[in-house]
Amino acid sequence: MKVVVLGSGGSAESANRACSSYLINSNIILDAGPGSYRNFLRYGGNPLKINYFLITHLHGDHIFEIGAFLWGMSYLARVEPVTIIGPKGVRESFESFIKYANTPKTFMRFDIEYQEIEPGEKVNVDNFEVITGKGRHTITDIAYRIGPLCYTGDTAPSEDIVELCKKASLLIHEASGLTENEEYLNKVGHSSGRQAALEAVHANVKRLLLVHIPPALSTQTSKLKSEALKVFKETSIAKDLLEIEV
Ligand SMILES: [Zn+2]
Repeated sequence: MKVVVLGSGGSAESANRACSSYLINSNIILDAGPGSYRNFLRYGGNPLKINYFLITHLHGDHIFEIGAFLWGMSYLARVEPVTIIGPKGVRESFESFIKYANTPKTFMRFDIEYQEIEPGEKVNVDNFEVITGKGRHTITDIAYRIGPLCYTGDTAPSEDIVELCKKASLLIHEASGLTENEEYLNKVGHSSGRQAALEAVHANVKRLLLVHIPPALSTQTSKLKSEALKVFKETSIAKDLLEIEV
């Protein structure tokens, strides 16, 4: 499996980071945060190959770019349907995007199949039986396990996610701040880098990739990393367009 980071930032874009988005192999997109479509094209991705979007939760920094992907596919005259999987409300949210963007029917000629799921449900994606778990966020957050890969979306430390991610080869975990801010971070449904590393230890994963790096931390990523490294040795911090073989 190949994972490409299309957006390593969180809550808002920064000059060097688009918001949350990952390409799995050549056809599955996990979250579609702002800036990710441009990175997808920079990487050399083909919009006509995408057939699944998996959405963790319906906050803007994880979904705003869906319009760019759908319009990009339309521009290329796509006719093959695409499947969008996410929490309850994903259909209404995306149908609204398409409507309020005045998307002409003659332009967007492909169908979208929506699958609204609850955390804990299993879903078939390509050749994978994808297992899901529950994040601890301010709205419903679905964590996904796709074969050897586990992705949290936005979450405070969550036993459910630890269970979901047991022995994964790669845990992509959000890290929205430093240890000194944990109390606040947890209150708003996020984790520090140190807490992400603790989750990696508890889940006994091989590697941890910290993501959802906020603009305010752009000059403190070495501190974020060192706090996590003290807890879990195989930790790295994501950058846009990082490619990982899992
Ligand atoms: Zn977020």
